[in-house]
Amino acid sequence: MTIYRHGTEDPRFPRPQSPTLTRCQRQPEAFDFERGDYARKAPELEQARRACSRCPLAPDCLLWALVNRSMTPVGIIAGTTPRQRTQLRTRLAARLGPDWIDVLADQEQARRHRTAEPGNAA
Ligand code: SF4
Repeated sequence: MTIYRHGTEDPRFPRPQSPTLTRCQRQPEAFDFERGDYARKAPELEQARRACSRCPLAPDCLLWALVNRSMTPVGIIAGTTPRQRTQLRTRLAARLGPDWIDVLADQEQARRHRTAEPGNAA
């Protein structure tokens, strides 16, 4: 199993990019929540979640956030709070085993292979 240093992005799961600025890039402060804010700022939290629900990057963004735990300890990312991301990581580990990130990386690679095959262009 590959160990990545704190704060280092797993190169198998780079942060998804968009040709246009996402809402969190245009208005990053709307996605910044400190510990304790999540209960106190319910309307702002809901606005950030709604923005993520309309974002085309959301599925890949969630995967990136789950894998790159040390880079995503706070804030709303892909519509999730830190606690929800922790719960999702726990579920992934229960379903795929302790090496769930490696399992997901293999699945991603296989998916990219299939997509790249002639006749399978998305
Ligand atoms: S889904 Fe991810 S990239 Fe899209 S707005 Fe939310 S945090 Fe930003």
